[in-house]
Amino acid sequence: MDYLAGLNPSQRSAVEQIKGPVMIVAGAGSGKTRVITYRVAHLIRQGVDPFNILVLTFTNKAAKEMRERIMNVVGSEAKNIWMGTFHSVFSRILRVEAELIGYPKNFTIYDTDDTKSLIRAIIKEMNLDDKLYNANHVYGRISSAKNNLISPQEYNKNEAIMAEDIANGRGQLGQIYMTYAQRCYRAGAMDFDDLLFKTNVLLNKHPEVLHKYQHQFKYLMVDEYQDTNFSQYLIVKRLAAVNENICVVGDDAQSIYAFRGANIQNILNFQKDYPEVQVFKLEQNYRSTKMIVNAANSVIEKNQNQLEKNVFSENEDGEKIKVTRAFSDNEEGKIVAEAITQERSLKGLKYKDFAILYRTNAQSRAMEEALRKLNVPYKLYGGTSFYQRKEIKDLIAYFRLTFNPNDEEALKRVINYPRRGIGDTSLEKILVAADKQQYRLWDVVANAQMFLDGRSATAVGNFGLMIQSFQAVAKTGSAFDTAMHIAQHSGILKDLYEDKSVEGLSRYENIQELLNGIKEFSEREDIEEKGLDVFMQDIALLTNDDKDKDPNADTVSLMTIHSSKGLEFPVVFIVGLEENLFPSQLSLNSRSELEEERRLFYVAVTRAEKKLHLSYATSRYRWGTLNNCEPSRFLDELNPACLELDFQPRNVSTGMDGGFQSERVAWKQKDTDSYSKPKPKVVKTTSILPKAHVPSEGFAPSDTAGLQVGMQVEHERFGFGKVVNLEGNKPDIKATIFFKELGQKQLLLKFAKLRIV
Ligand code: ATP
Ligand code: MG
Repeated sequence: MDYLAGLNPSQRSAVEQIKGPVMIVAGAGSGKTRVITYRVAHLIRQGVDPFNILVLTFTNKAAKEMRERIMNVVGSEAKNIWMGTFHSVFSRILRVEAELIGYPKNFTIYDTDDTKSLIRAIIKEMNLDDKLYNANHVYGRISSAKNNLISPQEYNKNEAIMAEDIANGRGQLGQIYMTYAQRCYRAGAMDFDDLLFKTNVLLNKHPEVLHKYQHQFKYLMVDEYQDTNFSQYLIVKRLAAVNENICVVGDDAQSIYAFRGANIQNILNFQKDYPEVQVFKLEQNYRSTKMIVNAANSVIEKNQNQLEKNVFSENEDGEKIKVTRAFSDNEEGKIVAEAITQERSLKGLKYKDFAILYRTNAQSRAMEEALRKLNVPYKLYGGTSFYQRKEIKDLIAYFRLTFNPNDEEALKRVINYPRRGIGDTSLEKILVAADKQQYRLWDVVANAQMFLDGRSATAVGNFGLMIQSFQAVAKTGSAFDTAMHIAQHSGILKDLYEDKSVEGLSRYENIQELLNGIKEFSEREDIEEKGLDVFMQDIALLTNDDKDKDPNADTVSLMTIHSSKGLEFPVVFIVGLEENLFPSQLSLNSRSELEEERRLFYVAVTRAEKKLHLSYATSRYRWGTLNNCEPSRFLDELNPACLELDFQPRNVSTGMDGGFQSERVAWKQKDTDSYSKPKPKVVKTTSILPKAHVPSEGFAPSDTAGLQVGMQVEHERFGFGKVVNLEGNKPDIKATIFFKELGQKQLLLKFAKLRIV
């Protein structure tokens, strides 16, 4: 059988072009991922050694699925392909090479919690205001510096960056970054961004290593190339420099990670980097009905910055897209849950054929509640991961210390859990001693009597001996035996066993579940290295979405649009289509951010194969207050011929279809519709699109020296508001202002374009 039979002519030529740089920029559902999958199978069929192939995917799950498909064509050889996310592939390489750049082979990977906790500790030590130096914000700055390959030294030397920080009142950011990097180094730890940053350092400083991998990876492929950041771009460019057998696929219209440093220019510049590039176009969408493709095209054409693409579908016309309005988020959940139950039985579908997509994680609550009420099974993607649970993190912290005793975040976590009489003061003394004298943390712990007195010195000393005994077990024991030994001798199992509350029981069960997972791992036959250290490396990069125990379970999928990238479902619900939610309030200040939101909407729409439902609520609780909401501008941007409006949210099946003109009028008159339940009053507007604030004539931001709480003000962009609080001293006074349109905002007066009215 021709293993390339499942491809159309353009896909097939892209697959068969195995030499030289290849780029495929094409719309959603046109088979980009399919081309990569077939291309790898084709390479192996042509005699290329799987060890010489590197494929970078967006999630580990995507890599796993791809590998299974390739296995069907080429057999078990597919196991040897280097395939995974950037983070997992390069952490694997760093494990081998870490010592060259001064890290232990068993370096720890700090997760987001570790990173933030360390940043918070540094901010506290430096006596900085933790509101101004908010840990999330600081993390974002450091992350974006790393993704642009700016080291702490360069950061502190860069005048433009420093000036920007100072202007924002955050002149100490450079110093925080510096200390943060030193602490990670001292702890033998890398954060997620380091996995890419340090890979670049490695390839840059060690030409022999670069050379080795350039020759190892003779064929490179990158899926979702539009979402690579500079750091990833450079790794790929370096590795491909010798053979130039590089194939990237992507869709500029689906670039949705600019906020994390992804740079759409990477795809636009590919032709400049490789003038010899062969470009292939894929225009046929195989995923969705004509109706859905048509609707998606009508949205994305509103973006100014995009490559011209013609996307068409030869699938059936399909049903119109249903737009539903609810009067609250809870009602929206109810409508969606009812629609799923109905559609499932009417069309003979399974639960797993349905997905509910939302802009923010917080929206899942209302959906989950409604699904539970109707006994609809669901799986929440991207929620708190199993590995993020407290008890699991506690036990893993012991594992981490066993393999890397300098891991400060792990030490802080468990040095006194279960309780062993080491108080905060002793811990503080240990950390200060390490910091002042630049000792490794482990040296302080192992020599506790030099830094602490009496009882606490003994307690810390015993803790050190315990970790050493774990290390001895780990040297010879299997992953499972080591893990079991640590669970028992650390005292965690006993502590949880003695807690007879319901939560305690479930925590105990979770630990058992983790140990079962390790047992399974240590008995796997498809991998050679089965130590606990390897297991830990695997799970450090796992997300909840990857720990999919039963991928065939019949459940509705709930996820944010960001994590739905690349996936497809027969029936998709996009919920919460409201101004300030989707598009997000934070995106309304600039065209480029709004365009990113629109691309996000495009991604959401194009996940649907057969049927798409859109909904919004006219009121919703956010941050504890009830807000009136207006339908999203994106609803207005969809081709009206594709829509079917539902005017009676309490009865989803009316199937009213009075032509767009009348629907639109009715839509605008939504406030006068009668509901069976009382509803919160909705603010009336003449247009469903909110207007940007136009500053009053002759607007000149004036001196705000006399500003007082209670005064009315006008902001150049945010409009009119009232001062509710003033804090800080000149020149760093911060004002909290309640804006009529936008709600509460905090502004630093010296930069705010504000006038008293
Ligand atoms: P996205 O931009 O969303 O990542 P994509 O371009 O990667 O989409 P794929 O996921 O590869 O698209 O393909 C979309 C769907 O169309 C898949 O179900 C795939 O199996 C199917 N498909 C692609 N090409 C063909 C083809 N030639 N014949 C039949 N089905 C196809
Ligand atoms: Mg894809």
